[in-house]
Amino acid sequence: MTGPVLSPLSLSRPMIDPFGRTITYLRVSVTDRCDLRCSYCMAEDMTFLPKADLLTLEELDRLCSAFIARGVRKLRLTGGEPLVRRNVMSLVRSLSRHLKSGALHELTLTTNATQLARFAQELADSGVHRINVSLDTLDPAKFRAITRWGEIDKVLEGIEAARAAGLSVKINAVALKNLNEDEIPSLMEWAHGKGMGMTLIEVMPMGEIGAGRIDQYVPLSLVRARLASHYTLTDLAETTGGPARYVSVAETGGKLGFITPMTHNFCESCNRVRITCTGTLHTCLGHEDASDLRKPLRASDDDGLVSSAIDQAIGLKPKGHDFVIDRRHNRPSVNRHMSVTGG
Ligand code: SAM
Ligand code: SF4
Repeated sequence: MTGPVLSPLSLSRPMIDPFGRTITYLRVSVTDRCDLRCSYCMAEDMTFLPKADLLTLEELDRLCSAFIARGVRKLRLTGGEPLVRRNVMSLVRSLSRHLKSGALHELTLTTNATQLARFAQELADSGVHRINVSLDTLDPAKFRAITRWGEIDKVLEGIEAARAAGLSVKINAVALKNLNEDEIPSLMEWAHGKGMGMTLIEVMPMGEIGAGRIDQYVPLSLVRARLASHYTLTDLAETTGGPARYVSVAETGGKLGFITPMTHNFCESCNRVRITCTGTLHTCLGHEDASDLRKPLRASDDDGLVSSAIDQAIGLKPKGHDFVIDRRHNRPSVNRHMSVTGG
């Protein structure tokens, strides 16, 4: 699969939203399907999008390229589980032409790592340098309980294959009440011991999962306070342009990130938008806003219609989100599951 290289002229129109934020980061959910069913992400019995509605990999490439032409410099493939999309590596290889041309600065992905052992080397060969792996526990029984049937050995094998291929791996863990709360220090020590960064995430009220969010939610302010009684945490000024705030941990020599959509609003510096595998553009994770890009994409071989539709959507990007989880608001704030939007 190959696509056109972008002309320098097309690189000159940035996407700037009504609040002056320039959009340079695109997250693409290449499939809403997954080989796991993490209890905070999906219901056990999920209805997935009809396959007929999916963009082809060629269409996804064209759409991503249209965003790169409009100033996207960082592109993350996600899902669902991106590595279960059939032939996804042809998309990775094709998009890597934008790395070679210099139009794109980073191509990366977020994965559950169950299939990573198969794909790690090819990812590295395609110019991917860093990946995020989601792992909430090192305990095989807890892993099975959280993911409903996952085998942790495959994940650990995938992580080792990625490291052996020279990929820099960051571990993402969702803090889960009564599930992995007590294990966060040992998970961090394990990650830092292997030279991997780790980021903690607060559970967000996205999609119906067949359980109340209040039973899963633990504020990271509490997790941080508990960590601070055992470790020396020093705030780092650096940000990666993303929502995480980082501390250094003196005892491990590693870095720990906190993503706190519930307790701290990070929207003021938001530089990102998301597209789904059906070509829907979401300009905010926490709003129901949605713009169809599939229709304009299919209506013309020229990217003019898509580019106008992108402009319209960016012009309506909300200022921020307002997630709430409490006894009165124990329902999804947003009906879409994270796996559809692309977490
Ligand atoms: N399947 C891949 C994975 O798990 O890394 C990529 C997609 S997954 C939706 C992306 C990230 O979203 C994962 O780190 C996952 O833990 C996180 N996530 C899913 N549902 C969430 C929720 N309701 N609140 C917070 N994080 C969530
Ligand atoms: Fe699948 Fe990732 Fe959601 Fe877990 S968090 S169910 S691995 S998409």
